[in-house]
Amino acid sequence: MTRKVYRFGGGVADGDATMKDLLGGKGANLAEMSAAGLPVPPGFTISTEVCREVLTHGGITEQGAGKSARLPDALWKEVDAALAEVERLMDARFGDAERPLLISVRSGAAVSMPGMMDTVLNLGMSDEVAAGLAKLTQSDRFAWDAYRRFLEMFANVVMGISRAPFEHAMDLLKHERAARSDRDLGADDLRELVTRFKAVYQKETGHSFPTDPREQLERAIIAVFSSWNSDRAVKYREFQKIRGLIGTAVSVQAMVFGNMGESSGTGVCFTRNPANGDKELYGEYLIDAQGEDVVAGTRTPEPISTLKDRMPEIYEQLAALTENLERHFRNVQDIEFTVQQGKLFILQTRHGKRTGRAAVKIAVDMVAEGRVSKDEAILNLVEPAHLDQLLHPHFADEAGYRRDNRVLAKGLAASPGAGVGTLVFHADDAEAARARGEKVILARVETSPEDVAGMHAAEGILTSRGGMTSHAAVVARGWGKPCVAGCHDIVIDYANKTLSNGKVTLHEGDWMSLNGTTGELISGAERLTDALVSDDFQVFMGWVDQVRTLRVRTNADTPRDAGVARAFGAEGIGLCRTEHMFFQEDRILAMRQMILSDDERGRRKALALLLPYQRDDFAAIFRIMEGLPVTIRLLDPPLHEFLPHEPRQQEDVAKAMQMSVERLRSRITLMHESNPMLGHRGCRLGITHAEITEMQARAILEAACIVKKEGKTVMPEIMVPLVGIVAELTHQKNVVDRVAKEVFAEQGIVVEYLVGTMIEVPRAALAAESIAEEAQFFSFGTNDLTQLTLGFSRDDVGSFLPKYIAAGIYADDPFKTLDIAGVGQLVKLAKDRGRARRPSLKVGICGEHGGDPRSIAFCAEIGLDYVSCSPFRVPIARLAAGQAALKSRGIREKSGEA
Ligand code: ADP
Ligand code: MG
Ligand code: MG
Repeated sequence: MTRKVYRFGGGVADGDATMKDLLGGKGANLAEMSAAGLPVPPGFTISTEVCREVLTHGGITEQGAGKSARLPDALWKEVDAALAEVERLMDARFGDAERPLLISVRSGAAVSMPGMMDTVLNLGMSDEVAAGLAKLTQSDRFAWDAYRRFLEMFANVVMGISRAPFEHAMDLLKHERAARSDRDLGADDLRELVTRFKAVYQKETGHSFPTDPREQLERAIIAVFSSWNSDRAVKYREFQKIRGLIGTAVSVQAMVFGNMGESSGTGVCFTRNPANGDKELYGEYLIDAQGEDVVAGTRTPEPISTLKDRMPEIYEQLAALTENLERHFRNVQDIEFTVQQGKLFILQTRHGKRTGRAAVKIAVDMVAEGRVSKDEAILNLVEPAHLDQLLHPHFADEAGYRRDNRVLAKGLAASPGAGVGTLVFHADDAEAARARGEKVILARVETSPEDVAGMHAAEGILTSRGGMTSHAAVVARGWGKPCVAGCHDIVIDYANKTLSNGKVTLHEGDWMSLNGTTGELISGAERLTDALVSDDFQVFMGWVDQVRTLRVRTNADTPRDAGVARAFGAEGIGLCRTEHMFFQEDRILAMRQMILSDDERGRRKALALLLPYQRDDFAAIFRIMEGLPVTIRLLDPPLHEFLPHEPRQQEDVAKAMQMSVERLRSRITLMHESNPMLGHRGCRLGITHAEITEMQARAILEAACIVKKEGKTVMPEIMVPLVGIVAELTHQKNVVDRVAKEVFAEQGIVVEYLVGTMIEVPRAALAAESIAEEAQFFSFGTNDLTQLTLGFSRDDVGSFLPKYIAAGIYADDPFKTLDIAGVGQLVKLAKDRGRARRPSLKVGICGEHGGDPRSIAFCAEIGLDYVSCSPFRVPIARLAAGQAALKSRGIREKSGEA
């Protein structure tokens, strides 16, 4: 291994912002800021490679375990040298009673995981050091406050002891002293607290706490490394799909103190409002407090705007520094700062998590301000998930619930959006309800990292305590989940599982609605509607469309969906499934007659009833998609899906068909298939029952003629499903072409149309060259192609796929994200072979994967013409395609240099 420890401080640094993989985001940015001359307390970062090394070979398995574990000597050598440098810069010594140096030991991986791993503050404490510190700072209170914090943190983070007995001891003392807040406790009280905390430590661990600073340091570093594998960190990475990281870095840094009285404080701020994107310094702070106090929810922090009056100079400095950071990092920054007796220090900066609405506004604003280029804005400032969030529903009638006085209370609008569900109070209950398919709102006094799984399962999150940067708020914003935080007007009672505003009490299981955009809690289940789209959104998407080459179509079966998709920018329909058209009340009977007829004559009679319906539907879709291609798939699903299973339905069908119910039932039994997915479906239906294909081709082409006569351009593409061998396609194509001739002769007009096929059977992919002789286009049906390539029945994967993914056998659900190494190779091969035979072959994908950003990037990379996805994902696909285009350009530029 190369270098293990990277120093920063005193205007220089060994690392920089590009080294996130090695130093973690926190360490890399601390280095970058130090080198840029920002007021960052000096320190050093131990690399993620050391973490991996220690976790794999150091005999450390989980938190608190391996108490005898030691750090390697080679590491100590580098740590000692770096520590000596910090001592020199701080003019203090680690463990020295005269001029003590205290340090923090901080975690930080390449991808930010707020609050998921551990940090220890005030390390290097002992009785002598505390006394020395008191003398040096002339503040007994401060010294004992730092000491008691250290004892609790060390016990909790390093030794894995619950905070409860410490909190209990604190509460008891406050009660004895009639103190309302921690700040009412004096120096002597805190000294007493230290004594009691030591006793707690002794009782819980069976030995006294280590006073040797080097031992403290070693234990803390090992604990931070181990926190990489803590339950909550592992779960968080699963949810966020954070993969491929080797571990956390550890940053060791000289402490600065926000808890040195009225001229000291600590806070967090964003360079722009992360909820709505407004350009303003945004955040919170506490006077006379240390780091974790702001997010812990024990004291309610002040909005940063009030710092202007309290500490005008500091405010000005902070505004200027953070502005510079935003310019430097070319992105909104989320900054942690501490003021020690009138001097400002920056402790962390990272790209700020923001809502979808804020992301789009910030991107448009920063381009307008000349801070970033349009390409940068597309690539770095908006994520596909942001658009997903932006397109989320909101409440249909906000005025209505206000008028009806159903607003229970108002808290902080911590994360926008609307959530409706039944009330639960524990994260476990939220998870269990979700598993049962129920929607819940999770209400907590405050949340902690242990709650993330339940928070993820909930439709919305509500807390009665904590600010805009509390755990609940930060996590919810990251996910785009609605959250109302710090709702002080309600009382949450865990024991009785109730929530009350003093007048109205809701119980577990009661329906409620949460408006994260306004902060309102509403009793009852509110109706939701579609999302709103802003001007900024249109502007931004315009830029995206300029850079992308991959086209985006939509999967739409109805005129309504087609209209929505076109408004979202769809450039055609990639998949119009015709079977959904048969399920409507007035049509299903005819469909059932068709299926259950004994002979072709009976089927033709029923099909004749269906034809006008289909023709009208297609005509409506062609009108909406005027000038754009519309791919219509011929009937695909196994016929038994349409069969009547209820006795009443069976009677209706029997009556209409003038046959006995018994006879009908026996026909139904005859149609049973043991493996319908591999059975009589797709083009197999159209081949055995050519009259179905005839009817559908006629409906499509007659509709096309009608709409063309209205003066509109129609571009029908008829798609034959489930082809495995070219002869199947030839058969169906002949039927379509014959019907086309008839229709055009009858209508006295000709419409250009294409006939192509879905590629969803692996054989078709392999035999793509011969299939391309007949097919004018390919559309990869990646749902079936995945099912058939992996041999995973889509309807049955629930029993093993989640375990497969948890065990890392498949990294992702292959039905969500294209299995690039397997199915993706088939797609690429089929496209190459198909184009080799027919260079004009149009190629797209229409499976679920067409709306998944990583799958879209792959489609762009291998040169497909389009992806097709559900209407609400069209903007996401446009962005993913734009980002893929920019990235591929970047890669080309780089390889051009080499
Ligand atoms: P997290 O990743 O959970 O935010 P951090 O390492 O950033 O953890 O530390 C938690 C808190 O402790 C932060 O609010 C930070 O401001 C504070 N802190 C960390 N190191 C120092 C330090 N050297 N001096 C003062 N405060 C610190
Ligand atoms: Mg932090
Ligand atoms: Mg299919």
